[in-house]
Parts: sequence; C-alpha cells; structure tokens
Amino acid sequence: MKCTRCKKEAEVELKSHNAAFCRDCFLHFFENQVAKAIKTHKMFSKTDRVLIAVSGGKDSLTLWNVLLDLGYEADGLFINLGIDGFSEVAKGKVEKFAQSRGAKLITVNLADDGISIPEVKNKIRRPVCSLCGQVKRYYFNMIGLKNGYNVLATGHNLDDEVSRLFSNVLHWNMEYLEDQSPVLPDEEGLLKKVKPLYRVTEFDTSVYAFFKGLDFVDIECPFSKGATFTVYKKHLNQIEFFSPGTKIDFYQGFLKKLQPIMADDKNDSKNRCKICGYPTFSDICSVCRLKGYR
Ligand SMILES: [Zn+2]
Ligand SMILES: [Zn+2]
Repeated sequence: MKCTRCKKEAEVELKSHNAAFCRDCFLHFFENQVAKAIKTHKMFSKTDRVLIAVSGGKDSLTLWNVLLDLGYEADGLFINLGIDGFSEVAKGKVEKFAQSRGAKLITVNLADDGISIPEVKNKIRRPVCSLCGQVKRYYFNMIGLKNGYNVLATGHNLDDEVSRLFSNVLHWNMEYLEDQSPVLPDEEGLLKKVKPLYRVTEFDTSVYAFFKGLDFVDIECPFSKGATFTVYKKHLNQIEFFSPGTKIDFYQGFLKKLQPIMADDKNDSKNRCKICGYPTFSDICSVCRLKGYR
C-alpha cells in the first residue's frame, strides 16, 4: 500500500477518506482536519485565548498538542476529581505534558470545595457520572471566565459526537439536539465552547497520539459505567466497516440539514443561579446545591 500523498510506503489506511498515509503525511492530514474544523466553524483565531479542558486522556492531550503546534495560544485546565488511584495518575500525565511543552496549566481541586466526586457519590443515590459531567462543565466555564479566556475547547472526537447524536435521535432528546454542535456561541455567563477534533475519529486520534509518543492516562474511571455510549460506538463502527464514511455523513448531514432549523427554533428559557449566576433551569444551580445551598 502506497501513501496517497507522497507515494512512499503507507502505515495507515483511512477507508472513510479513501486514503492511505505514511507517518508524516498522516500527521499532516490530521493537523489539516483540525485546522479545517477551526476555520469552517470560526472557532477561534490566533489572537484568542483558548482554554482546553484536559483530563489526561489521549483526546485532550492530542488536542492540546495540535493547537500548540498550529501556533494557537492554548492553556490547559485540569480538574482533580479526587478519585483514588485515578485522579493523581491523570494529574501526573497532564503536568508532565505541560512541562514538556512549556505550556500553562491551571489545576482545580474539587476537594477544596468539599465536592470531590467520591464525596458527591455518597450524597446522591443515582449514578454519579452525569453529575460529574455537570460539575466539570461548571468549573471549566467558571475558571475560563474568571481568567479572561475567550473560548473553551474540549477533546470530543467524531465518534463521541456521532454516538451522542445517535443516542439523542434514538430518544428524540430535542433539547440536547438543539445544543449539539462543534461550536456553541458565548452567552451571558457562558463561555464559547468548541470541539476542534470533531472531524477526526477515535482511531485517528489514537494513531496521532502513538506517532507523537504522547504519554496519556488509559485507565478507565472506576465510577464510569459509560456502557450505553460504548455499545453505540461499537455498533456505529460495524456500520462504518460495511459502509465507510457513514459516521461523518450522519454527523455532517445533521449539521447541514437539521441543526440550523433546530437552532432557529431554540427556546432559551434558562434562569440564572441565585448564588453564582450560572445558567440553570431552577433557582439554584446543581453545583451550588451540592455545596450545601438549598
Ligand atoms: Zn506520505
Ligand atoms: Zn450556582
């Protein structure tokens, strides 16, 4: 198999793009996909201050690495969830990466606010994952605004976006579909949010991280029972195997055909939290409630 771009021996085949690449050309392709996502959706420019939500996993460290290589001003924010045997390992990987690139890292300890994830887990009866997601989003937004960043970037890839879209369509979660986009504009109390990796797959990201020798955390969160999305991803990969290009078609089709109609129709009736001002559907946001405000 020869490289589509330079005709040297190829190392990676990408059926959905009808292409094969040698190492150098794959890295070029990958960076191009990210650059294209940023440009097409006007995510940010070289004068913006970008804050990246970093977990220590392969996607967020890949995103950080690419944005630095593309010459953007991109700092990292790590939220220490306080989960034994998991959070410290992740923190170590993130700190090591930041140091190796001479990049700025902000770290937040949820335990300092009395809402580490194990503490939260003891307070509630339902699975902690969705609440953990809410707490993380809250802090990413709050720290970003407080420190003067223009935009918050997350490492969601095409597989994350497609499995989420698939789930939202299966259950017709209209309010989630309205907000499913590679870019969400800022509004009062909310930073602009972007997903520059939305055009690349989980496989692409793994290959990139491997070629670049990125050292990331690959143990799963002990509380994570993310089984539903894993099942969707598995089935979507089977469909992709028989019909390469289906995933990107499904997602791009949604963005082009349905998302604009839904965004026009959007009914934004969010309140502001009485304690902290964060947008919420009730009087007090879920994080302030966890902190003990009623
Ligand atoms: Zn090549
Ligand atoms: Zn609040």
